[in-house]
Formats: sequence, structure tokens, C-alpha cells
Amino acid sequence: MRGIKYLLIISALLLALAFVLTTFVFKGDNKEEAVTENTTEIIVLDESEEEKEDENIDNKWAMFLVNKSNPLPMDYDSRIETKMVFESWREYFIDSRAAPYFEDMLNAAKKDGIDLLVVSAYRTIEYQQQNFDNSVQDRIDNRGMTYDEAYADTLAEVALPGESEHNAGLALDIMSEEYTSMDDDGFENTEAFKWLDAHAHEYGFILRYPKGKQEITGIIYEPWHYRFVGLYYANEIKQSGLCLEEYYEEQGWLDANGKATEMLGPWEEPEEKEEPEVTTVPENTEPKETMPTQPEQKVSIIV
Ligand SMILES: [Zn+2]
Repeated sequence: MRGIKYLLIISALLLALAFVLTTFVFKGDNKEEAVTENTTEIIVLDESEEEKEDENIDNKWAMFLVNKSNPLPMDYDSRIETKMVFESWREYFIDSRAAPYFEDMLNAAKKDGIDLLVVSAYRTIEYQQQNFDNSVQDRIDNRGMTYDEAYADTLAEVALPGESEHNAGLALDIMSEEYTSMDDDGFENTEAFKWLDAHAHEYGFILRYPKGKQEITGIIYEPWHYRFVGLYYANEIKQSGLCLEEYYEEQGWLDANGKATEMLGPWEEPEEKEEPEVTTVPENTEPKETMPTQPEQKVSIIV
């Protein structure tokens, strides 16, 4: 009898233990599931936030760097469609996607009594090449320079084909009848400049080579040179007081050599995958490496 009683007690204890264990493990499982669900929810929230921010960014295609470290591909002319946006003694074109924004700006300025005057807009890479080559040749023929000297001297004044924003169809040199000299920065004292400085960002344009930033941009202060980057980024950059290179750096989009790693030009990705060794050195010019070392610090005058 005693033996049976003990057996019953032990059985009861075992059952109780089994119950406690099952409950504990079950609860544990539930807890884990709950945690997983929460994590998933948080990730989903993050993604939708990002999407929302993305929706606020207009004309993302227009946000890319064009400078000595980030040249356009030599076939860029064939990649864009341009539209005539201004006519004076000649016609001026820009990328057709940016054209409506410029036209709105032109009309808004006119309403405020400001007659803007375009003095340069889209320049083909072919034209830039001819311009560059002529400039080199002129120095050889008329100033007694060697090819290397003439090349280096030209490089300090004329942007290489593909290194000018004008080649991208996104830049305009805008002045007014009041003042059309590019020999100095006197344009900044005009009513037209004051209007542009206050309103250009409202139409997606930024002052690309601001005062005091020539060490960073490599280009002298140009109160007339405006670049389309879309409404969102134009506003961001205007508020930040940074030039485009600084803005890229602040966002973490630049490597140590000043080459963009994010927000690249629309040509970058497919070309890199298919052919990593795409050369942007134009014909009839020697590779940059063999050139004298001065142009990096020098600022360009005609861009
Ligand atoms: Zn310009």
C-alpha cells in the first residue's frame, strides 16, 4: 500500500512538472513570436518613411555632379533631348526636361520687371572639344608654347569636353542688359542678380559657383551660372549655404578623390557593368597624367 501511495505522489509530481514545463516553453515561444512581429513592423514602417521622402524629391535624374573628377561620357550629346528656351542674336537650348522650369522662371522674373538675358546654355561636347583644341593650337601658333605648355595653359581657362555643366544641358549663364561682362563679378550688383539670388531655387536652379567657394569648385565665382537640380535639391542646397560639391560631401556621396559614389549620372551604372574601362580622355589630347601638375589648384575661367 505504501509503495502504491509513493508511486501515485511521484506520478502526480511528474505530471505537475510536465504541465509547468509545457506552459513555460509555450509562453517562451509566444514571446519570441511577438518579438519577431514587432521587428517586422518596425522595418515596414522604415521603408514607407523612406518611400515618402523619395516622393518629395522631384527630378532626381537631374541631380549629378559634373566637374573635373566627374566628367560626362563623351557620347552624352546623343543621350539627351534639348529644347530651345531663349532667343536673342542666337538660339539657346537646355535639356527638355528642365525647360519648363526655366520658362516659368523667365516669366516670373518678367512679371517682377526683370528681363533676364541668356548668354550661354547647352554646349555640345563636340563644340567644347573644338573650342579646346583651337585654344591649344592658338597658344602653339601665336605664343610660342610647346604642346604640353599650351595644353596646361588652356586647361586653366577652358573646361575639357564633358567637364562643363553646359555640356549636360543643365546650366545657363544668365545676365541682363544692365550688365553683360564676364570679366569680373560686377553682375552681382544688378537687380537681375538680386532677383535670381532670391528666387532661382523656387524653380529648381542653384547658383553653382558661389563666392568664396572657388577652392572647392575649382571655378571662379560666377554670379551668372545657374544649374538645374530640381525643386527639392535646389531648396535644400539654398538653405544649407553649401556649394554642390560640399552638399555631396555632407551627404556622404563623395569618395576621397571627389568622385561621386551615390547620386551618379544616369549613364554611370549600365556602363560600369558592361565595360569598366570606359575612357573619357578625348581624342587629340594626351592623357591627363602626363600633363604638368598645375591645373588642379588653378581655377577655370570659361565654364
Ligand atoms: Zn556657365
